Amino acid sequence: MLCKHCGTEIADKAIICFRCGAGTTDPVRKAVPVRPRRNPLLGFVVVAVLLLLALYMGQASRTAADPDTYQTVAGLLVGAALVIFILRVVRRR
Ligand SMILES: [Zn+2]
Repeated sequence: MLCKHCGTEIADKAIICFRCGAGTTDPVRKAVPVRPRRNPLLGFVVVAVLLLLALYMGQASRTAADPDTYQTVAGLLVGAALVIFILRVVRRR
């Protein structure tokens, strides 16, 4: 038979290819994909940015013509920051 990896002619009974070392049969168990660990700082940076934006919107609402809109957006930003923060805390357990 031919090696699936490199195409070398190898014995039919061979378990691995003598040339490249690739197995001739599929692994019984699939390798578990390693989940890349996300940077733990990233979530806090996102939360911090959202809170800073909310703070900015709160400040801007003082001079804006439509302070209600700014305050609503600021509230939404704080809410989003809280949701992200809570989700991160819950998932860590
Ligand atoms: Zn091979």
